Amino acid sequence: MPARKHDEREPNAETGPRDTGRAFRLLLAANPLPMWVYDLETLVFLEVNDAAVAHYGYSRAEFLAMTISDIRPVEDDARLRASIAERRDELQHSGHWRHRRADGTLMDVEVTSHLLDWAGRPAALVVAHDVSETRHLHSEFSRRTHFDEPTGLANAALFTDRVTAALLRSKSGDGHVGVLVIALDNLEALASTVGDEAADAFIRVTAERLRACCGAPETLARLGGGRFAVLREANDEPAILALASTVASALAPSVAVPGHGELKSSASVGIALANGDVEDAASLVRNATSAMRHATERHDGHFLVFNTELRRNAVDAFHTEQALASATRLEQLCLYYQPIVDLNNGDVVGCEALLRWERPGFGLVSPDRFIPLAERSGLIVEIGTWVIEHAIAEAAAWPTSAQRPARVGINLSAHQLRDEHLVERFATACTSSGLPASSVCVELTESAFVATNDYGAYQVLAALREMGIEVAIDDFGTGYSSLSYLKHLPFDVVKIDRGFIAGLGVDRADRLLVEAVVRVAHGLNLRVVAEGVETEFQLAALREFGCDAAQGYLLARPVPGAALPSALDQARRVVAR
Ligand code: C2E
Ligand code: CA
Ligand code: CA
Repeated sequence: MPARKHDEREPNAETGPRDTGRAFRLLLAANPLPMWVYDLETLVFLEVNDAAVAHYGYSRAEFLAMTISDIRPVEDDARLRASIAERRDELQHSGHWRHRRADGTLMDVEVTSHLLDWAGRPAALVVAHDVSETRHLHSEFSRRTHFDEPTGLANAALFTDRVTAALLRSKSGDGHVGVLVIALDNLEALASTVGDEAADAFIRVTAERLRACCGAPETLARLGGGRFAVLREANDEPAILALASTVASALAPSVAVPGHGELKSSASVGIALANGDVEDAASLVRNATSAMRHATERHDGHFLVFNTELRRNAVDAFHTEQALASATRLEQLCLYYQPIVDLNNGDVVGCEALLRWERPGFGLVSPDRFIPLAERSGLIVEIGTWVIEHAIAEAAAWPTSAQRPARVGINLSAHQLRDEHLVERFATACTSSGLPASSVCVELTESAFVATNDYGAYQVLAALREMGIEVAIDDFGTGYSSLSYLKHLPFDVVKIDRGFIAGLGVDRADRLLVEAVVRVAHGLNLRVVAEGVETEFQLAALREFGCDAAQGYLLARPVPGAALPSALDQARRVVAR
């Protein structure tokens, strides 16, 4: 330590007793944090401790030959001088600075300064806290909580914040804020065919294409899955529509994914524009999502603007969902049954349970109007459980006779396969009603089957079959997959979608298709049920192809349980004709 005059007066000789100086030095020397004293006029270092020497890499002599601005990047110098001038009279202050080590590397430091009198000169005591690591962790944390990993785009939370900021700005500006929600239509099916890694590669290419057509990257986000969003400010409706059209065509070409060839997925775009009465960012994104969903349903790869009609639909959906949430509790649900008849011997091999909702003020609501909503809101598990319990209990009470339907058919949604209690629910319903599990058949649509590509769902189906429950694939022919692809999945029955049956006698291709499905299914030891049989002609054609069983309005319409005996008689008579 260099010799100093006036040692006995350091520091703050006016107020401190003689040995405060010694205690102070000791504290300074032994402190694990870098500390120094500098001259407030010349900015020269007057004293440094060992921790500063160790942490910064300058020797003590080098320190004492420098000013405090020498350990900072030049561009920070003006700020440093301004800060010293401004804080001159204050006792203490802290701040964030960048300091340079002897090896030239910069670090982020948090600095605390105290003014003091050093041998009669105005000086400051500084404690420096290296926060580079903390800051790095903080920015890494913020990156992870605000950005989507595979694409590097903003995530849904950050996007909502940005829309909020844009809405605020629009109040003082030109008032135009638009949100586009873009969804890849069949990403889930694609992922289940080619695997998650290839699907991620697909997503990354999609993100690149969006970046290329959306300009500023900070307006783009990935909301999750195959869903993206774009924020537009100060663009009028025609400009936003033009952008939607550019986006739809940019995403149309197929994507080359190594090992999987060319993959293709069309995109649907939904648009929502803030028009004064949109309350917040979340509603704007929700409206754009709702418009996107309607665009998806139209299957034409186009885009749709959220408008009055969609707004009314959204409001309706909201009220319907609210009402549906209490439908089971209020005993507003009931089951209709439709017979399935064996074409070889006229036996009723099953009755499909079809859900109805007696909604006050709306009459009997068909499942097509509320099942999709129940699936989106997650209510389907509760409703589906109600169906399982009631269908099984009601079937157990069917009169025992030779005429009794062999099985009750229960429709399942893909979501229900993720219900960890599903198998148990069937077991409990069978045990408590006394219906053998072998008198139950579950029906899953082809797309639900495709979504069951994961092992858990596969095991659920295998466990149901293990119990004796039969598994049928519903609406066959409407999905993306082929029978050969599905042969690895555990099922017993194929139900050909009524769209193909309607084409019999009208469309030659449908005839060939139905015939081929029957042949292939029989080759795989599966039974075939034709759905939606409405004419004698269709029935005759199905018989000719060797189709096993039929269901449809020609045989019997779905009826309440009480009307089932006469429906069964009628269906048998039609087949026996
Ligand atoms: P689905 O499983 O394909 O059910 C057959 C649908 O076809 C029924 O419509 C039935 O009434 C109708 N149908 C039967 N025969 C004919 C015919 O000859 N011609 C025509 N045009 N239609 C016929 P519904 O009862 O309106 O049910 C619609 C869909 O709702 C069902 O289609 C099924 O996917 C779903 N669904 C019904 N009940 C449940 C349920 O309990 N759970 C689940 N997850 N979905 C259900
Ligand atoms: Ca069905
Ligand atoms: Ca069906």
